[in-house]
Amino acid sequence: MKLNIKDTFNKELPADPNKNNTRRKVFEACYSYVTPRIPSHPTLIHVADELAEMLDLERDTQSEDFLEVFSGKKVYPKTHPFAMCYGGHQFGHWAGQLGDGRAINLMEIRANGQHWALQLKGAGATPYSRTADGLAVVRSSIREHLCSEAMHYLGVPTTRSLSLMLTGDEVLRDMLYDGNQAYEKGAVVCRVSPSFVRFGNFQLFAARKDHKNLKNLADYTIRNFFKDIKSEGKEKYIAFFQQVVNNSLEMVLHWQRVGFVHGVMNTDNMSILGLTIDYGPYGWLEGYDANWTPNTTDSRNHRYAYGNQPGITLWNLVQLANALYPLIEEAKPLEDILESYQQNFDLKYVEMMSKKLGLTQKNQEVEQLIEEVEQNLQLTETDMTIFFRELPRVQKKNTPQEAFQKIHKSFYKPLELAGATTDAWLKWFAKYIDILQKEEDKDETRKFKMYEVNPKFVLRNYMAQLAIDAANKGDYSIIEELYEVLKRPYNEQPEYEKWYVKRPEWARNKVGCSMLSCSS
Ligand code: AMP
Ligand code: MG
Repeated sequence: MKLNIKDTFNKELPADPNKNNTRRKVFEACYSYVTPRIPSHPTLIHVADELAEMLDLERDTQSEDFLEVFSGKKVYPKTHPFAMCYGGHQFGHWAGQLGDGRAINLMEIRANGQHWALQLKGAGATPYSRTADGLAVVRSSIREHLCSEAMHYLGVPTTRSLSLMLTGDEVLRDMLYDGNQAYEKGAVVCRVSPSFVRFGNFQLFAARKDHKNLKNLADYTIRNFFKDIKSEGKEKYIAFFQQVVNNSLEMVLHWQRVGFVHGVMNTDNMSILGLTIDYGPYGWLEGYDANWTPNTTDSRNHRYAYGNQPGITLWNLVQLANALYPLIEEAKPLEDILESYQQNFDLKYVEMMSKKLGLTQKNQEVEQLIEEVEQNLQLTETDMTIFFRELPRVQKKNTPQEAFQKIHKSFYKPLELAGATTDAWLKWFAKYIDILQKEEDKDETRKFKMYEVNPKFVLRNYMAQLAIDAANKGDYSIIEELYEVLKRPYNEQPEYEKWYVKRPEWARNKVGCSMLSCSS
């Protein structure tokens, strides 16, 4: 296995001089060197083949070298693994130093003209592990591996996942936080991203008034990942912030489009590149519900619920603005950028929803229609993915009743449709068809355009759970099958029709299918 090593983070930024793997506070450094834990019996479960190809690794994935390097058993020659130092706001409160407690950055490489950082998750304790063990269990690793790739193929900005391996070691977890600890299989995934820097990396230096390293980190990030910023002085940092705001807005807009709920949007889980990062107790909307969160830790406050994600993104950006302020020393430009976020989001949201509805007209009527569809979707439990995937079949010549029939299979409780709910939908479809008739495109053309933004296949919570249950019995075929389906989420793929169904009833309240804890 030959990798084209091009390290930057551990070449250009200050290291913690202490090389012992002891848990501690680390000051005036961006990272600490740490060697991955040696797994007792690593086995490869799954490789994302297209990603391997992009990294020029397609001929190596079955080799001993690949197994050893991406399980943490062997350090690739001339590389210097490390854990990053960062802080963050957790559930709205400043938590101080957090850091890579179970992520170890292996190396950065160049492949096919692109730059990538490769990082193991679950490869053992680091100076930032605090009271935890630095390990990951197979269920959360399957969820991270499959969802990262699924999101990529949905066109959502995200970190990627190259490989999923069992370590052969057991990990003790209290899955439900109810005092019942049990051993689970340990696993490691190799995450891939241009950079793993988070809002929290900047925040920690700012909180400690270490402005020298704050500047170091900002300059490093701009120099390597925001290459089109040419300005100098404070203008440079303002331009940087503007781009982070734009990228984060795009990311959350995609989440809303596909019905993804991150679940733990703490500032340490916000990528500076605007990529979806840290797949923990995330979930997918099945019944459309703005107030839904998959995370049990958040079940009371719903801080990170689906409908709150755009606002929380802004809240997180405000924290980043505070962290960058010492480099700019002027509040106005930062405030102006933050203010424009809301306006831009609203505009882009209408644009995105119009596309989901197949409309090109821009007017009050369309905005009204969008608001109403969101209300209607919450009248009775209605599957978001199926609704938007069936909607393109509605034709200009349809009556409201005919149109309503076409999306009928998205309802979970048909008995609840009688009366007011049906009335609301018939009214909505009457307006929708009216507006459709003013569209220039023929029905067929509009249908295919709508298919491009309304996926047929997403990683429903119960699908991941089926893959996990089988994997726990040594059967990895569902992982393989889901990976294949989710590679082409907008295609019909009739051979996989069984994955285009509403959540089965058995999954309604099953752990892992409806609610998830942070235990992973
Ligand atoms: P999260 O909410 O998963 O993003 O985690 C918050 C912090 O806890 C991060 O600093 C993680 O690295 C750390 N952490 C989470 N799980 C573990 C674990 N099993 N061992 C060590 N650190 C962990
Ligand atoms: Mg995290």
